[in-house]
Amino acid sequence: MISKKMEKIMNEQINKEMYSAYFYLSMATDLREKYFDGFAHFFEHQAQEEMEHAMKFYEYVNEQGGRIILEAIEKPQTSFKDVEEIFDLSLKHEKFVTQSINDIYALAVKENDFASMQMLDWFIKEQIEEEGNMDKALHMVRMAAKAPHAMMMLDAQFGKRE
Ligand code: MG
Repeated sequence: MISKKMEKIMNEQINKEMYSAYFYLSMATDLREKYFDGFAHFFEHQAQEEMEHAMKFYEYVNEQGGRIILEAIEKPQTSFKDVEEIFDLSLKHEKFVTQSINDIYALAVKENDFASMQMLDWFIKEQIEEEGNMDKALHMVRMAAKAPHAMMMLDAQFGKRE
């Protein structure tokens, strides 16, 4: 069993993960419109991953006898200046999510909730990866932004994400 506080914060996290999916899908749509199909593919894949993150919390709360309450998902930004802005916002967003996961972990520690700590360990590792990937991508995009052919090559490379 999880506490009411843990149930509430995990419900909020489900909403944040769903919002992340929305946000990345919104970026993908904008990129498709600009014919950056590779970057769009990358963000469509990213959006799917965020849905999986939401489901991990969904399943865990259910498993622990908690109740899922789905709230409205905030409307994401729908248009973006350029590819650099998209990756810049993505990195900032992942840092926000990391902080959010850390806050849940802190609650688990406070409550001696070892089951939740173990469940959250996966997310702690995942966030290291998410931030690292976005940081690297932003650096590459910044370099490529100076030369159109470099940007096109990078777009093709991002299109290969499995
Ligand atoms: Mg996530």
